[in-house]
Amino acid sequence: MTTDSLIEAAQRLATLRDSIDRAARLTQRTADDINLIAVSKTHDADTIRPLLHAGQRAFGENRVQEAQEKWPALREEFSAVKLHLVGQLQSNKAADAVALFDVIHSLDRSSLLTALAKAMDGANRRVPCFIQVNIGAEEQKGGCAIADLPALIAAARAADIPVPGLMCVPPADIEAAPFFALLAKIAREEGLERLSMGMSGDYETAIMLGATDIRVGTALFGQRPSPARPVPASGRGMLRNSRA
Ligand SMILES: *Cc1c(COP(=O)(O)O)cnc(C)c1O
Repeated sequence: MTTDSLIEAAQRLATLRDSIDRAARLTQRTADDINLIAVSKTHDADTIRPLLHAGQRAFGENRVQEAQEKWPALREEFSAVKLHLVGQLQSNKAADAVALFDVIHSLDRSSLLTALAKAMDGANRRVPCFIQVNIGAEEQKGGCAIADLPALIAAARAADIPVPGLMCVPPADIEAAPFFALLAKIAREEGLERLSMGMSGDYETAIMLGATDIRVGTALFGQRPSPARPVPASGRGMLRNSRA
């Protein structure tokens, strides 16, 4: 680990914290209300370590196996790490996910709920699960349909799975704000407090619309090695690409 990498990580974190603070204050909130999750998927331990040295403790991964390979060793080096699963979860990985993660952001169907409840009972450990909502009703995307949400929330309560709030990944290539606003409205109607929304390209908007948990990768770690991501179009408007 070089001094340069330590300085760069600290600067990226400070810059991000400044914009989080600005977006929060613009809407009469404080940065303390917002949990920054550093999404470290695809990055190796050497890339993650400088950010840990800079004080970051909440991290997000989207694959159970990748997280199992990286995090046990890092957790021995650094205390108080909180791991968030931000990617789709297969039911057959539920037990592994419950053993490793502190929060799951992708509960989206009753079969997964059943598997998670069983895994939590077996491990005697309750892992809070955000319910992921397919907020843009996109066919290929994970997430519970809005219409199915009340039943899934009720089933989670019945199974004694803590549900802190809702999570979404809005459609790409279109303004994210209306989808964030919609998620916030649904959460209010369901009496849920937390909102996991906002990524590198749109976390400020998400914060201004009530996000409590933002999931930021690229703005902290730089571009991921692969797969190639589209270059964001410049300019504003409904069809602006809002992803970084
Ligand atoms: C990768 C990922 C992020 C982070 O995306 P960036 O644009 O790199 O900030 C956030 N949420 C989910 C669900 C992801 O898969």
